[in-house]
Amino acid sequence: MAVSFSAETKEELCREVPSSRCCAQAEAYGVLLFCTAFSSSEIRIITGSSAFSQRLPALFRRAFHLEFDQDPDRPDHPGKQVFGITEPKKLCAIHEAFGSDPSITLAHHINLAALEEDSCRTAFLRGAFLTGGSVSDPDGSYHLELVTSHYHVSRELFSLLLEVGFNPKQTTRKSNYVTYFKQSETIADFLTAIGAPLAAMKLMNAKLEKHLRGSVNRRVNCDSANLDKAVDAALDQVEAIKRLKRSGLLEDLPEKLKQTAWLRSEHPELTLSQLAVLCDPPVTKSCLNHRLRKLMELSGR
Ligand SMILES: [Zn+2]
Repeated sequence: MAVSFSAETKEELCREVPSSRCCAQAEAYGVLLFCTAFSSSEIRIITGSSAFSQRLPALFRRAFHLEFDQDPDRPDHPGKQVFGITEPKKLCAIHEAFGSDPSITLAHHINLAALEEDSCRTAFLRGAFLTGGSVSDPDGSYHLELVTSHYHVSRELFSLLLEVGFNPKQTTRKSNYVTYFKQSETIADFLTAIGAPLAAMKLMNAKLEKHLRGSVNRRVNCDSANLDKAVDAALDQVEAIKRLKRSGLLEDLPEKLKQTAWLRSEHPELTLSQLAVLCDPPVTKSCLNHRLRKLMELSGR
């Protein structure tokens, strides 16, 4: 099975764990608010990205100095991988890091105080994309989305994205809130911002290629349409010349017209410009066109 563009993008995002603790925490925050479950009693992260599976333990170690209670035996294996934390002490430490008290917090919000630096904000978006995000293959139509089950998080994500220069659209899907982009340039900018410049470049190249292919096709179609017209015209001219011959009129025509008739009959495949050069002396294309029209006229058409 070919690797999807989404999987490839996530692989690129997973090459390095943020070195600063604030950014590691910000990314983990994005991961948690967009993952399968983040409550006072449990954290459950399910992912199909083996690159992310291999990176996640290091990210949580860097961010919170703790290990998952449940993690896959073979994080490098393809397929869904499950990570979990259920130990109350660890859950408490994680909630505390984002300034939320799980015993009184009913609904999640994005605590912007935890995302002070620009780099923390993009780290948060990267984490959100790694768990709740996907991007469609650039050979088809363009679509990037971030999906969360938390209403306030989706509203605040919208503001956060506006603040960092993006203008997303939002919708709901079943009980989930979907934030998405449809424009290739915006998607490329977003991917670059969160740390996947190669994926962004690949997307723009795919777009350029599609554009070029489209314009080549348009030109080929245009050329062949013109060619069809030229062939039809040449065949009409050959027919007209045959009629002139049959009626005996051709013999009495001026030398220039006789020569033109002879050339066209001999070379029905040539364009006007090519035929014009063969005249003796050579003439312009418009002059030849004029002569051919005269022949058509005389033939009674
Ligand atoms: Zn930071």
